[in-house]
Amino acid sequence: MAVTLEKDLICKDFLSKQPKKLLIGGKWVDAESGKTFETRNPATDEVLVKVAEGGKADIDKAVKAARKAFEEGPWRKMSAAERARLLFKLADLLEKNAEEFAQLETLDNGKPIKESRYVDLPQAIETFRYYAGWVTKLEGETLNVNSNFFNYTLREPVGVVGQIIPWNFPLLMAAWKLGPALACGNTLILKPAEQTPLTAIRLGELICEAGFPEGVVNIVTGFGPDSAGQALAEHMDVDKIAFTGEDKTGRKIVEYSGGNLKRVSLELGGKAPNIVFADADMDAAVKGAIMGIFFNQGQVCCAGSRLFLEKGIHDEFLTKLEERAKGLRQGPGLDEKTQIGPQVSKEQQERILNYVNIAKGEGAHLVCGGESPTGDLAKGYFVKPTIFKGVKNEMRIAQEEVFGPLLSVIPFTSMEEVAEQANKVNFGLSGAVWTNNIKKAHKFASHIKAGTIWVNCFNAFDPAVPFGGYKMSGYGRELGKHSIELYTQIKSVWVNLAD
Ligand code: ADP
Repeated sequence: MAVTLEKDLICKDFLSKQPKKLLIGGKWVDAESGKTFETRNPATDEVLVKVAEGGKADIDKAVKAARKAFEEGPWRKMSAAERARLLFKLADLLEKNAEEFAQLETLDNGKPIKESRYVDLPQAIETFRYYAGWVTKLEGETLNVNSNFFNYTLREPVGVVGQIIPWNFPLLMAAWKLGPALACGNTLILKPAEQTPLTAIRLGELICEAGFPEGVVNIVTGFGPDSAGQALAEHMDVDKIAFTGEDKTGRKIVEYSGGNLKRVSLELGGKAPNIVFADADMDAAVKGAIMGIFFNQGQVCCAGSRLFLEKGIHDEFLTKLEERAKGLRQGPGLDEKTQIGPQVSKEQQERILNYVNIAKGEGAHLVCGGESPTGDLAKGYFVKPTIFKGVKNEMRIAQEEVFGPLLSVIPFTSMEEVAEQANKVNFGLSGAVWTNNIKKAHKFASHIKAGTIWVNCFNAFDPAVPFGGYKMSGYGRELGKHSIELYTQIKSVWVNLAD
């Protein structure tokens, strides 16, 4: 193993067996091409493990396996209670192995171990349990029609589903995709992000251990364009594609899906307004602003990257914000004390530092950060928590998704001004408002064009609550009963009762 792990990690066993393979039709297999790629530890730039590089041929095999499992296998014949039990069992296995998963997630993605352990893992487990609960509650309707007929609807699975996920919450995004798709009786092919394939592969092992029939879940690791991702989105025998990632990629997914007009759901980027009024609880809002932008190193599609501060509190708020940002402990994710880890890849690190230059060129003022740390951390993909003040909403750093720990602070003087600027952006995934005035809070909740609004909080999530975007942030809503809509289709049945 190329990596030096100074700690006695539970995930060592998993990492020692390589190359990691593809899960197709219930078997772990090499890529048809025999190719592999490396996944790296973002804290050190060391190779963690080699992983099979799936391509078009592997996707084709996986789709065939999923189709067979859907049309012929035991999966469709199982009772709802049996399917629910499998999902509950998977959640239990994940819980039993939670520490190993937390370590793998931190090693592969870079995020602080405390976040993997106390956010990603519990939420992934709860997502599987939540959807396990849905399996036995899915139902159709009977409809009041002309008395010569009896009409009822059947809620049926969509069929073979392709799911392409990003690297920022690798396991959690897998849970958001797999949980509802399996609850509704689909079979699927999951394509994890090439930067972070490890927890999905380990999840595949638990799926086999739980006893899901072969071919129900197929996992093909590999790249996006001209590779596994594109092949999956283009495949003529895939009935639906669910995608989470960049808006640019989302547009391509829509194009690829045109061949067989497969159903598409997209969760894309964001540029959330985080609005603080002078009457807000300042300390709570400062904490919320810090968490809103620096959680997960800013690699969050709903990050509060545009902080609107009312003029009266602007300077005091900014002083507190700067102090907190500078006080965040940056380090390798495995260090228990780390509050902010490295970015996921060198490419992302460079992209963020490039935005720092863009911001300076546009006339924004750097308050703190704006560079990578030196010393021990220099070999990882770190970027210091960065704040720009004097940002104008039209600037590129206020309009484009940076996907990093870079906050744009924009001052405002009136409700009208901030109301207009908050919506002057192409994205609409989330937004937040901090105020002690209940009328203002509700007015803004209704005014902001975004799929999620937080009032006096940020980043609150629950598997029961829908998540998704307005405008260029995507189509459809995930989580809650809304994912059930994404993964089922309705059939109406007419029965002639006329004599
Ligand atoms: P990022 O640029 O932040 O990595 P992407 O949208 O490129 O975000 O990646 C999210 C997921 O989409 C990953 O699993 C990636 O492999 C996949 N992907 C990227 N480009 C394509 C593409 N052209 N077709 C299909 N999948 C893609």
